[in-house]
Amino acid sequence: MTRQYRITLLPGDGIGPEILTVTVDILKLIGTQLDIDFQFQEALIGGSAIDETGEPLPDQTLKMCRNSDAVLLAAIGGYKWDNLPREKRPETGLLAIRAGLNLFANLRPATILPQLIDASSLKPDIVRGVDIMVVRELTGGIYFGEPKGIFETETGEKRGVNTMAYTESEIDRIAKVAFETAQKRTGKLCSVDKANVLDVSQLWRDRVTLMAEQYPDVELSHLYVDNAAMQLVREPLQFDTIVTGNLFGDILSDAAAMLTGSIGMLPSASLGLEKPGLFEPVHGSAPDIAGQDKANPLAQVLSAAMMLRYGLNEAKAATKLEKAVLEALAQGYRTGDIMSQGMKSVGCKAMGEVLLRILES
Ligand code: NAD
Repeated sequence: MTRQYRITLLPGDGIGPEILTVTVDILKLIGTQLDIDFQFQEALIGGSAIDETGEPLPDQTLKMCRNSDAVLLAAIGGYKWDNLPREKRPETGLLAIRAGLNLFANLRPATILPQLIDASSLKPDIVRGVDIMVVRELTGGIYFGEPKGIFETETGEKRGVNTMAYTESEIDRIAKVAFETAQKRTGKLCSVDKANVLDVSQLWRDRVTLMAEQYPDVELSHLYVDNAAMQLVREPLQFDTIVTGNLFGDILSDAAAMLTGSIGMLPSASLGLEKPGLFEPVHGSAPDIAGQDKANPLAQVLSAAMMLRYGLNEAKAATKLEKAVLEALAQGYRTGDIMSQGMKSVGCKAMGEVLLRILES
């Protein structure tokens, strides 16, 4: 039976429209091959939304996103809007859409593709086979806890304050996403905290441990964040799924991503309790190469694969897409950012055509 999904597309700025066009063509083909009817609707966000409506996230965009099964975002931002007041900047649109859709879980994979192993800053022997998923809590913790601010003490000295706080329900909902993610992968979950020092981390550890009883098929371990940072660069192969709070996740997901060495390859997913999730590349709008057909569309294509797997439960379609990306790399096709000697140099559009050809064969 045909499955129908309404997908809101947010091309945004810079290279956004180029990489999203390539991705949509690929999704359309996969749809016809696997009996999936994607209904695409496009909306404004970021700088292009500011130009047309004066707002980085127009109400109409948020409404359309809420009314869809998944949101596929490209990238926002550019020099043109860099000097606007903060509330009118493209980046504000990005934060607003995450908040507006209540997306509390951020999933960032760090997978070493064998074809790109030399792009890593670590030795091939250490990173070969690495396939990590970092599940980061996105709407709580020290970035949002109260009190926060810079206050004056009785002696007139200034004191900066942020508060790291998590409620049981905030921990439970991110832990649930993490256990379910681990189930879809190899069944190994490592929870990262600082329970030896922080009370908030002790509560985190207690709740995650309690939830493990509901997931007997998942093997849970715990690490302190300092040790986790060390282990990530010492022996990254020991990790499968990692779950952690907002601050630790911010840092560890960047470190894990850099094991792979190439920003044009990294997808991400942000999920809430209900649909829609938001799926987007980790990179920005790359204004330096926008409009020149130089962008690597693979992070966007892999974000679409995450949309299929984690947003729509279409694992078969996701795997098909991921395999096509691997095959394009195996056949030697490279955009400028991942180019190396002896490989075939292609632009954004041509990389899309290679993927279409592989999917059709
Ligand atoms: P960036 O990720 O846009 O670019 C960094 C470097 O990586 C550039 O040299 C760029 O050419 C290259 N690059 C990035 N993506 C690429 C791709 N797909 N293919 C080939 N090369 C690629 O980061 P930046 O330069 O710091 O920021 C540019 C703009 O993007 C800023 O306005 C920033 O605020 C915004 N930004 C948006 C997001 C987002 O939309 N999620 C994320 C980060 C930055």
